[in-house]
Amino acid sequence: MKPEISFEFFPPKTDEGVLKLRETRKQLALLNPKFFSVTFGAGGSTRDRTMDAVLEIQAEGFEAAPHISGISSSKEEILSLLKTYQSHGIRRLVVLRGDLPSGEVSSGDFVYASQLVAFIREQTGDWFQIEVAAYPETHPEARSAAADLKHFKTKVDAGANAAITQYFYNADAYFQFVDQCQAMGIQIPIVPGVMPIYNYTQLARFSNVCGAEIPRWLRLRLEDYGDDMSSLRALGLDVVTDLCEKLLAGGAPGLHFYTLNQSGIITNIAERLNLKK
Ligand code: FAD
Repeated sequence: MKPEISFEFFPPKTDEGVLKLRETRKQLALLNPKFFSVTFGAGGSTRDRTMDAVLEIQAEGFEAAPHISGISSSKEEILSLLKTYQSHGIRRLVVLRGDLPSGEVSSGDFVYASQLVAFIREQTGDWFQIEVAAYPETHPEARSAAADLKHFKTKVDAGANAAITQYFYNADAYFQFVDQCQAMGIQIPIVPGVMPIYNYTQLARFSNVCGAEIPRWLRLRLEDYGDDMSSLRALGLDVVTDLCEKLLAGGAPGLHFYTLNQSGIITNIAERLNLKK
């Protein structure tokens, strides 16, 4: 059986971005994904654009999963968003705490994602399939790996159905994490989030913020390529395809790709993995 795959987009800011995303979706739809998800800016800054992208995806006949983040949001704002999604027949959410732009202090009703998950369950019962975030290499703000794992369990116990991980390039981090979760009685599927390598500077910036480790040997080789994008992408394609192969061979329930609204590299990875249905 082919593994279930899903793709994550960010909501485009311009008309040109909307057109580009439509084309990306058309290409990725050929891989028969389970769903397309759309990110949500801190404090609801992309609320309308996330909604627009989600409804467009749904109108094309695909399952659309909006991300929803609690930081800086009030209960009333979240409830109104949930009602709107319910009225459009949306059944899946990716539920997060979110991050504040640096210097901002949260004024919202939700400090942790687990509180938002509990609130959604309390207000909407089992209407939504709830996906939450997981961190095989530990969330950067966590006091310790053990504390992070404990908080992850609280979030799962609050009502999550599945988790999608932060990206990583070390398959062992994922397998260790899954083993630890199972030992704690966490039984939901934990789907690895996969970040294809598009551009080194951008990847290094994201990784600094989210705590995802780029192994030293890989970082050095990517740095060496500098502006030589074709060598960089060829290495990235090899590395990420290998990672996906290991993850699937080791029992990962599927793959969730961070697309950055691009389809080319993912299509290449999918061809190598023979994911086309
Ligand atoms: P939480 O699960 O709340 O965890 C955040 C931190 O708080 C962790 O260090 C945890 O250990 C700690 N913690 C949790 N509970 C407690 C407690 N009771 N006491 C003390 N500490 C606690 N961000 C966006 O803004 N928009 C998006 O659309 C978005 N999509 C994402 C999709 C995926 C698949 C992933 C992996 C991340 C995404 N993010 C997004 C980033 C995410 O918002 C950040 O990583 C954020 O810093 C944490 O969110 P969380 O939901 O994991 O938070």
